[in-house]
Amino acid sequence: MPELFAARCENYHDGSLKELIDNYFCSEKDRLASASKILLKPNLLSATPPERAVTTHPDFVRAVISSIREFTSAEILLGDSPGANFGKYEKVLEVTGVGRAAEENGVKIVRVEAFEPVQKDGFLYSSLADEVDLIINLPKIKTHSLTGLTLAVKNMFGLVPGNTKVGFHRSYPSDKVLGAKIFQYFTILGHKTMNIMDGILAHEGDGPSRGTPVELGIAAACSDAVGLDIAVTRMLGFRDGFCLTSLEALNQGYDPSWLDVPKANVPVLKVPMSKRLFVPDFLKKFVAEQVYVKPVILNEPCIKCMLCKKSCPVDAITIVDSYPFINKNKCIECYCCHEVCESDAVGLNRSWLHKRMVKS
Ligand code: SF4
Ligand code: SF4
Repeated sequence: MPELFAARCENYHDGSLKELIDNYFCSEKDRLASASKILLKPNLLSATPPERAVTTHPDFVRAVISSIREFTSAEILLGDSPGANFGKYEKVLEVTGVGRAAEENGVKIVRVEAFEPVQKDGFLYSSLADEVDLIINLPKIKTHSLTGLTLAVKNMFGLVPGNTKVGFHRSYPSDKVLGAKIFQYFTILGHKTMNIMDGILAHEGDGPSRGTPVELGIAAACSDAVGLDIAVTRMLGFRDGFCLTSLEALNQGYDPSWLDVPKANVPVLKVPMSKRLFVPDFLKKFVAEQVYVKPVILNEPCIKCMLCKKSCPVDAITIVDSYPFINKNKCIECYCCHEVCESDAVGLNRSWLHKRMVKS
């Protein structure tokens, strides 16, 4: 039976964080001691500073590195493939502070795309995952516009190389199907993971990157990523299936009855605008056509970097008068363009019915 560890931590230097990590590593000391190569897999979604809480905090990474050295002599690597920002890895490492946290502690930084992709069970992942004996998965607690929450299972999606992640949106535009596919992908690599979750400063609202930081003050760890996700989901006050990757695990028979989840007394997280809507089944089709949030390019702040165009999984963005232009008929509202734009030049236009039904 896996063991669940959870702690209240006022900040990243709180002794209870070190204690949690030490206790977790101690419970897995044989796995750590027998590994010769270990990958640290933080959430490095985009080039945003730690106070935005989009990425795993560099001091969280420092705490893990400092503790792991006491349990293993393995070579430690750190790597991720940052969402649609895959062309700007160095900038992501610099701005998030995670690059420095790794370098100053002798951890080698690797790029997911530098390793051959491997095809398995219809999915593509970086062979970096095969090169290492263990993956220490370091997710950030965030609400997510598509999957409800992004936690440990979703964080492993970063081992899908480069643009292939965007291809998931093309192939699976429904959020439930996307969550199910990410869970299925996770099952290929899940056995290799140990998971330590950063919820000290979390991200709420229109996550994974356009929400706001919130001080939650929790950290949690478990070698069962699905169990950890469900435990944290309960600590946050949501139903088990709110996180769509967990919903798929539950649908496939995952039994969470072993979980003994401590009371967290944390603030209730603001959910993404896309999840604040209930539509009865019989009205769904009709209403769905009237209720939408469409991305729109704002020419004034646009610096014409075309990252939005590159990130669009369905080629809905063309160039008109040198600016990107969104073809509304092709757009599947995945918000990848909104997520990737660093100039706040992709706005979200809400339909009249959406405005009536969903408080902003
Ligand atoms: S909308 Fe944003 S991402 Fe797209 S070209 Fe303009 S600045 Fe770049
Ligand atoms: S235009 Fe933006 S929201 Fe629409 S499909 Fe492309 S990336 Fe997604």
